[in-house]
Amino acid sequence: MASATLSAPDLDRTLDLAGQLMDEYQYGKDHSRQARTKIVATVGPACGEIEQLAELIKAGADVFRLNMAHAEPEEQQVFVDRIREVSEKLNQPIAILADLAGPKFRLGDLSEESVFCHLDEEFFFVAGEPSTANELTTSYEPLLQELSVGDNVMLADGTVCMVVEEVLKNRVRMRVQQQGTIRGRQGINLPGVKLSVPAISVEDHQHAIWAAKAGVDFVSLSFVRSPDEVRTLKDIIRSSGSSASVIAKIEKREALDRLEEIVAEADGVMVARGDLGVEIDVAQMPLEQKRIIRTCQDYHKPVIIATQMLDSMHDSQRPTRAEVTDVANAILDGADACMLSGETAIGKYPNEAVMMMNRIAIATETSMVGRPLRELASKGPDGLHTVTSAVVRGAGTMAHVLEAKLVVVASHSGRTALALSQQRSFVPTIGISTKETTLRQMCLYWGVTPLRNAPAEDVEQLIQHTDGWACRAGLASRGDRIVIVGGSHLTAGPKNQRLAAGVHDIVIVHEVEEN
Ligand code: PEP
Repeated sequence: MASATLSAPDLDRTLDLAGQLMDEYQYGKDHSRQARTKIVATVGPACGEIEQLAELIKAGADVFRLNMAHAEPEEQQVFVDRIREVSEKLNQPIAILADLAGPKFRLGDLSEESVFCHLDEEFFFVAGEPSTANELTTSYEPLLQELSVGDNVMLADGTVCMVVEEVLKNRVRMRVQQQGTIRGRQGINLPGVKLSVPAISVEDHQHAIWAAKAGVDFVSLSFVRSPDEVRTLKDIIRSSGSSASVIAKIEKREALDRLEEIVAEADGVMVARGDLGVEIDVAQMPLEQKRIIRTCQDYHKPVIIATQMLDSMHDSQRPTRAEVTDVANAILDGADACMLSGETAIGKYPNEAVMMMNRIAIATETSMVGRPLRELASKGPDGLHTVTSAVVRGAGTMAHVLEAKLVVVASHSGRTALALSQQRSFVPTIGISTKETTLRQMCLYWGVTPLRNAPAEDVEQLIQHTDGWACRAGLASRGDRIVIVGGSHLTAGPKNQRLAAGVHDIVIVHEVEEN
C-alpha cells in the first residue's frame, strides 16, 4: 500500500515549501482559518506521500488515522515514520490513531465473483467449501452454532438482508428479505445477535502491541461491547510501555446498552456510523449519535464523529448539501472531532475534503460564539485535582470577563488542557507541555492548539515566548490580556511547591508587552 519515497532533494524542496506554508498558516494574518473542531484524516494510497501529508496538515488535519484492517503493521510503519518526519519539519504536533479491526467477520470466497440475492430466495451458511452460488461461508466458524431462527444477517454494508429460518448441525437456512448483490470477503453484520467472539483477536493484540511500540497517540477498538474490553486494551497498551489513549468505537447495540460505563472507562469515543448504521435501525442512528455526544460531554471525554461525513467527495470536489449539514450539526451538537475515511484514504480529492471540513467547521463555529461556557462537572472521575478543576473554571470565566485574547495552559498529562477544551470557550487556547506525547494528545482537544518548544517550566520565559507567538500569529498585540494557567512550580520553582505535582493552582493575567 505504501509507495516509493521521494528523492532527498525533492523531499527537502517539498518540506521547505511545506515549512513556508506552515509559517504562513501559524503566523499569517488569517489565524481564523483554523477550526476549533479537530479533523481526523484516514491515511491511505491517496494521501500517504510526505508532501501529501504535509498538504493535509496545512489544510487542517490534526490527527492521522491508520486503519489496521487495511494494511499490516510493516506497511503502517512507513506512514508513522512519514507523519513523524513531516511533523518534525513543520514543527507542528500531529497525532496518530491506530484503529484496530476488532471482531469483524466476513464472508468467505463465493463460488462466483458476485451473486445477486433475489427477494425470497434461500441461502445457506455452510461449513467447508461452497458448492453452489447459494452457499455462503464465513471467516467466523462458530457462527453456524451461534445463529438462531429469526436473526437478521446483514451483508454488503447492510444493503442485503436475510433472515434465519432454520439452524441445522452444519447448515443455516436463510431467506432474502432485502435483495441485492453480495461479493466474497464482504463484512457480515448481525444486529442484536450476541456472539462469543473475543473483542480483541490475536491479530488485534499484535497490532495493539505494534501501535504501542510505534508510539502512536490513540488506539481505537472496533465493536466494543463492554467496559472490560476497553480496560483489557488499556492493559495491553500500558504493559507495552505506551501512554496512548484508548478510543472506544460505538457501533453495536450492546455498546449503546452500556454506553455510560464504556464512556467512563474509555479515554475517548468514536461514533462509528458505518457499522452502527447497520447494527441498529439506521433511522435511530441520528438520535443515538446525539446521545453518545451528550454522554461524552457528561464524562469530559472527546468524541469523534466518523464515516460518510463528506462521502461524495470520493469523486467530487464539492460535497452534497446533506453532508455539509451533517458535519455542521455534529459540531453544533458538541463533537470534538470529525473524521474523514475513504475521502482522504482513497478518494480523488483528499486535500479538498480536509479543506471543506475545515471551512464547514469555521462557518458553523461562528454561530457558537457567545454561548455560555459549559459547566465543568464531570459525572465520572476526570483525573483532575479539585484545585485544578476550580482553577480551570475560574480561568475560563476570567478570560471571558477580561476579554483575553489568548489562554495558555501548561499541562503535563494534558488533562487540564482537556478540561479547558470541554468548556468550549472561544478564546484561542494554546496548550504547552514539556512532553511531546501530551502535545500530540491535545490534537484531539477541541479549541486547543498545541504549541511546541514553549518553556513550560518558567513563567517569565513562558510569557516572553507566548507574547511573541501571539503577536506573530496576529492573535494579540501590545496591551492585550493573556490568561496563563499552570502549577506553582512556574513561579516558585519545584522545591517550593505547596500542592502535589501536577496540580494547577495558578492563574496569571498578563498584558502583552511586545508589539
Ligand atoms: C465505522 O464503522 O464507521 C468505522 C469508522 O469503522 P471501520 O472504518 O473500521 O469500518
